[in-house]
Amino acid sequence: MKVIKVKDKVEGGQKAFDIIKEGLEQGAKVFGLATGSTPETLYEALTESDLDFSDKIAINLDEYIGLEQSHPQSYHYFMNDKLFNQKPFKETHIPNGMAGEEELARYDQVLEDNPIDIQILGIGTNAHIGFNEPGTSFDSKTQKVFLTQETIESNKRFFDSEDDVPKHAYSMGIDSIMGAKKIILLAYGENKAEAVANTVNGPVTEEVPASVLQNHPDVIVIVDEAAASNL
Ligand code: PGA
Repeated sequence: MKVIKVKDKVEGGQKAFDIIKEGLEQGAKVFGLATGSTPETLYEALTESDLDFSDKIAINLDEYIGLEQSHPQSYHYFMNDKLFNQKPFKETHIPNGMAGEEELARYDQVLEDNPIDIQILGIGTNAHIGFNEPGTSFDSKTQKVFLTQETIESNKRFFDSEDDVPKHAYSMGIDSIMGAKKIILLAYGENKAEAVANTVNGPVTEEVPASVLQNHPDVIVIVDEAAASNL
């Protein structure tokens, strides 16, 4: 893993932008994208740029089960709002949170048909990647996940009340994420410091989902000073 320390999330977004720009120049076509507050500065840098994604493919990590695409907290809504409306892609894929479990095989097929060149990841305070919570098998493909109480607590800030946070999601699995050619993990803020340290320096264990990235040949971890404080 290569660790890049930055001053703040604006510089982090710019670093990730530079890696994506270089990837485009080298022919990257399929981009694995993430939601949450972490990638927002990257998406700002992309929308303000003149980079062209109109013949590229975006594949998102996850979606809450039970939220319509038009729901303001759905990840469909987030991606349209933060990126796709301003920066059109040829195709965008996000799990359909209103579908039944046939969605899992459909999404695995999307991934098989479109191998990811560059995957963007955030990290949970419990080191989840996508919505793959501690204990998730490293062999997992797209799956239905039960959100942990810690994740529900972290995400309730976006909802009117904790009760409104969906309890389930569809998420690309750990094995699906590891299939990307290059992975950029972004982490900002002190509340990510322990997860980052366990990911980079700890043992590779299913109890720390992001630690699996130690087994991937091309991972760049971009962290601000606070998130790097336990390294
Ligand atoms: P955040 O979420 O970017 O909102 O901190 C990251 C994650 O849970 O993966």
